[in-house]
Amino acid sequence: MAAMKKIIVPAVCLAILFLIEYLGFFAGINDYLYDLAFRIRGAQTPPARIAIVAVDEKTMAALGRWPLARKHYAALLEKVNAADVVGFDIVMAEPSPDDALLAAAMAKCREVVLPVVIEEDMSAVYPVRAFAPSRTGHVHIERSIDGVAREVWHTLYFRERVLPSFASVIYEAANAAAFARSGPQAISRPASIYQSDMMRINYYGGPGTFTRVSLLDVLNGRYGPDFFRGRIVLVGISAMGLVDSVMTPFSETRMGTAGVEVQANIVANLLAGDEMKSVPAAVRTITGAALALLLYALFFRTTEGQGALILLAYLGVVAAIVYAAFSLRHWWYGPAGTYVAAVVLFAAAYVLKLHDAAVSLGATYDAIRPQLRNKPSQAERSLAEKGIAGIFTPRGIQAQAALLDAITHELIFEKELADRILLSDVFGVAVFDGQGRLVMASGDVRQICEAQAISLEDRDRFAAGLASLVMEKEMDKGNGAFLSWLDRKAATVFLERPDKRFLKVDVSLLPVGQEGYSLFILSDVTKLKEVEILKGQIVSIVSHEMKTPMTNILGFSELLVGELDGEMNRYAAIIKDESERLTRFVNTFLDINRIEEGRQRIAKTDVDLGGLVREAAAKVQPLALSRDIRVVVAAPAGTRTVSLDRDLTLQCILNLTENAVKYSPHGTEISIAVVERPNAASIDVVDHGYGIRSAELGRIFEKFYRSDAAAEENIKGSGLGLTFVKEACEAQGGRVEVQSTFGKGSTFSIVFPV
Ligand code: ADP
Repeated sequence: MAAMKKIIVPAVCLAILFLIEYLGFFAGINDYLYDLAFRIRGAQTPPARIAIVAVDEKTMAALGRWPLARKHYAALLEKVNAADVVGFDIVMAEPSPDDALLAAAMAKCREVVLPVVIEEDMSAVYPVRAFAPSRTGHVHIERSIDGVAREVWHTLYFRERVLPSFASVIYEAANAAAFARSGPQAISRPASIYQSDMMRINYYGGPGTFTRVSLLDVLNGRYGPDFFRGRIVLVGISAMGLVDSVMTPFSETRMGTAGVEVQANIVANLLAGDEMKSVPAAVRTITGAALALLLYALFFRTTEGQGALILLAYLGVVAAIVYAAFSLRHWWYGPAGTYVAAVVLFAAAYVLKLHDAAVSLGATYDAIRPQLRNKPSQAERSLAEKGIAGIFTPRGIQAQAALLDAITHELIFEKELADRILLSDVFGVAVFDGQGRLVMASGDVRQICEAQAISLEDRDRFAAGLASLVMEKEMDKGNGAFLSWLDRKAATVFLERPDKRFLKVDVSLLPVGQEGYSLFILSDVTKLKEVEILKGQIVSIVSHEMKTPMTNILGFSELLVGELDGEMNRYAAIIKDESERLTRFVNTFLDINRIEEGRQRIAKTDVDLGGLVREAAAKVQPLALSRDIRVVVAAPAGTRTVSLDRDLTLQCILNLTENAVKYSPHGTEISIAVVERPNAASIDVVDHGYGIRSAELGRIFEKFYRSDAAAEENIKGSGLGLTFVKEACEAQGGRVEVQSTFGKGSTFSIVFPV
């Protein structure tokens, strides 16, 4: 199909061009170029044998009104009768009194040629009978539509008479040889004129190129008989107003050339045999088409830029050859058709290549489309079939751009989606578009939604369904709250059906172009959760079981410390210290459990934060002294009172200050400060100790979590202190914040909104 197009398109183009050429549309351009070629070539030296005797302004002024009395022509003939031929381009159709005088003068000349004029009504006007012995020829010069005389017909067949051209008769008279005419023609309509022996005039130049003398000067004897000897003398009018001005290729203005000078050019052409010859239309058509086809084949093998250069070079070479043939060989090749054929086939090749490109672009789109999850809507129809039609209009290009945009959008979406999912430990994925419609959901998600009767149809209903299963106690389980809450953290949901399972839900916004997708990534955390729960249960059981024995051990060890001496007393003291620590651990753990389960009674009173902080500082002093650490309190007098549970909060501050002391090297300083914040009051515990790695910051509030650094430094601890702080603060409506730079120190803040 494509190959066929490559043959059919140029064939059709050339056929149309043949028709246009045949109808003559290129003739005007060719004529223009023809005239231009003359002007570029410029004037040439005419043959010296031809001289023009002009009836100029000067002559008219001296000899009176037009027509001049024929006695003056008789006088002229007396002066020029040494010439080979005298031709008059002056009509002498009406008899006049001087005719006998002129006829006598003519008889003394070797050859005289007189004009025959063809009138508008197709009648031929011959000279008066008195001059019958002279030869006659028609002075008709053919003009093109633009009025320029480029050719002459040397033989007319008119009312069964042969009417030779004026110039051809002069040629015959001068050379005493017959002009080769194409022979008598059968005249179909006797009333009309039949023309033959066409000749293109090879103009020697514009007006005044030929030797020209004034009739008056000749009559006055300024030129002797020798001047005219052997010459061909043409007598005609050059005076403005009388002149039959003829437009020639050299006429760039309305000013034409005198008819007699045009005749002089024709005679010169005949004598020198240098008339213009025209390359026949058939030859032009065939060469033009063949060369254009050659170029056409070349255009398919080159890039467009190279093709354009080749085209330009070709046009230049054709111009050069045409001009060379014109100026050196007098052959004229009208190049318009050749030019247009080359340009048209170049354009055709270009368009076909564009078409091929459009088809392959369409095919690429067609190949991508099935890969897309969201098929671009406007791509229902195959673009490959449309080819160039699909891109040739602004609308077409716009459609392509929109499609490309849609595909790009889809690909970015797919990539982003893949990226995010690859980074997480995925159980299932659900994606909703900007309008909340489901884009995709993995099989597992569909399964749990079915089992839990959660709607997957739109984002909000899906979110609400998940929200009802969320385990986190601090979350308001209403639909909107769930989504905004998820912005900050992930939620863990518990699914009773189809099997008991804990899923962590991460919701994130996936912006692609203008569209904001909601991406739900579900990861299975069942194993982790189960271990966590089990851990809690075991410790809880153990703690409960240990509580009573620990009280006994502690009580008795205290008794023993009072009773025993020496080595034994030291042992008893160790038992007392360790059992105190264990009791604290068990109590803390049970406290946390109580708070978590909501069994802890929160007794809020208005508490002066400054007093609270000073009390904590005093309590931590012994520990600080043992490690040579200075405790600074910054609690401006009259700090505000906040409604909170005093004991719980004091315990929190104590935990934080103990940590600050524990995780700082000897000889450093810690500070406890009450800080006013906008809409909040905060207690900041600042140390210049070891600091916490940023990777660990998120985990230090987990139960039993202890950093590796703590273990390495051999610092005693349970990993429960911060868990308590977090739970106790949040139970009262506050929160804990931490900022830490590893190696520099940490700041823990307990923040209560006011
Ligand atoms: P621990 O009983 O181990 O101190 P916590 O819950 O109080 O348990 O603290 C958890 C972990 O947080 C600690 O093991 C320690 O690594 C880190 N941590 C807590 N406070 C600080 C601090 N002020 N400077 C550096 N690390 C700290």
